[in-house]
Amino acid sequence: MNDKIDILSLLPEEINVTPAYRQKQVFSWLGKHGVRSFSEMTNLSIQLRSELSERYSLDIPREMERQVSADGTQKILWRLRDGEQVETALMRYKHGWSACLSTQAGCRQGCAFCASGSHGFSRNLTAGEILRQVLYCGVEISRVVLMGTGEPLDNFDQTVRFLKLISHSEGRNLSPRHISLSTCGDVPGILRLAELGLSVTLSVSLHAPDDETRDRIMPVNRKYPISQLLDACGKYFTKTGRRISYEYVIIEGLNDSLGHARRLAALLKGHPAHVNVIPYNPVLGKPFSAPKPSVVDRFMDGLNGLQATVRRTLGKDIDAACGQLRSKRIC
Ligand code: SAH
Repeated sequence: MNDKIDILSLLPEEINVTPAYRQKQVFSWLGKHGVRSFSEMTNLSIQLRSELSERYSLDIPREMERQVSADGTQKILWRLRDGEQVETALMRYKHGWSACLSTQAGCRQGCAFCASGSHGFSRNLTAGEILRQVLYCGVEISRVVLMGTGEPLDNFDQTVRFLKLISHSEGRNLSPRHISLSTCGDVPGILRLAELGLSVTLSVSLHAPDDETRDRIMPVNRKYPISQLLDACGKYFTKTGRRISYEYVIIEGLNDSLGHARRLAALLKGHPAHVNVIPYNPVLGKPFSAPKPSVVDRFMDGLNGLQATVRRTLGKDIDAACGQLRSKRIC
C-alpha cells in the first residue's frame, strides 16, 4: 500500500497544481475523459505529469468478473487496492445506461432479506472508489442509483463528496436529477442531506406499512420508526422540492396481503410519493420467497390510486439481487 493521496477523491480546487486552470484540466482528464494514467494527460508538460504521479495515486480497480444477462444487464465484481471486493450493476434502459453503485464493502444494517450484510461489514468506500465504478465500467452512464451494497447515509461524507464529484461541471457533469440515493431509513442522514440541498432523488426502502411488520425485517426501524421516517421525508421534500420514491419489496406471506397494500395507501396518502413495488429476488440461504404474480396484482389493486409501478426485474439469469455476486466470492 502506498500512502499517496487518491486523486480521484479530490475536487478541482483540492488538487495541488498551479496555475489554477491546471486544476480543472487535471480534474476533467479524470472525470470527463476517464484517463487511466497521468501520462494520458497530454496537454500537461511531462514534468507536471511526473510531479502528479509522485504526489497522487490513480489506481484502477481490477475487474474480477463480469456477468452479462440476456436482457443486457451487466454485473461487475471489482477488486480494490486493499483486496476488498465490491460490485456494480449496469442496467440498460431507453434513456441509456444506469449504474447501480456500492457505497460500502458489506453493510451493517442487517435487513433480514438482503444478501449485502450476510458477511458483515468491512469498510466504507472512498468517494474515489464510488466514482471509479462509473469511470471504468466500460459504458457511458447517464443515470446513477446508489442502491448497491451498503447504506449510503452510513458513509455520509464520502457519499456526499462522490455526489459533488460526479455532478461537477468540469467532470462527468451528471445532473443531480439523474441520481437517486437509496436509504434504509437513516433519519439523521436524511435530515443532513436535506440541509445540503443537493436535490438528488431520495429513495426510501420502506417494505412495510406498519412498525410491527417493518421491525421483523429491518433493524433500523427499532431506532427510527415509520412515523419519524415519514417526517424526515416530508422535510426532505420541503427543502428540495423532490418527490420521494418509496421502495416496497414484496415478500411472500410477510408483507404481501391486501391489508398491507391498503395500509400502505393510507400511510402515504397526501405525501408527494411514488412507490416502486419490487417482487422479492430470492437469496440463497434466506427463508424468504418471491410472491406469485397474482399476489402482486392483488397488492397493486389494493393501493387504491396511490402512484405506484411494479419494477420489472432485470438480470434474472445472473446474480442480480444486491450483494449476491460479492457474497458468492467471499463464501
Ligand atoms: N442501504 C440502501 C441501499 C441498498 S439496497 C437501502 O436500504 O435502500 C437497495 C434496495 O434493494 C433496497 O430497497 C433493498 O431493500 C432492496 N433489496 C435488498 N435485497 C433484495 C432482494 N433480495 N430482492 C429485492 N430487493 C432487495
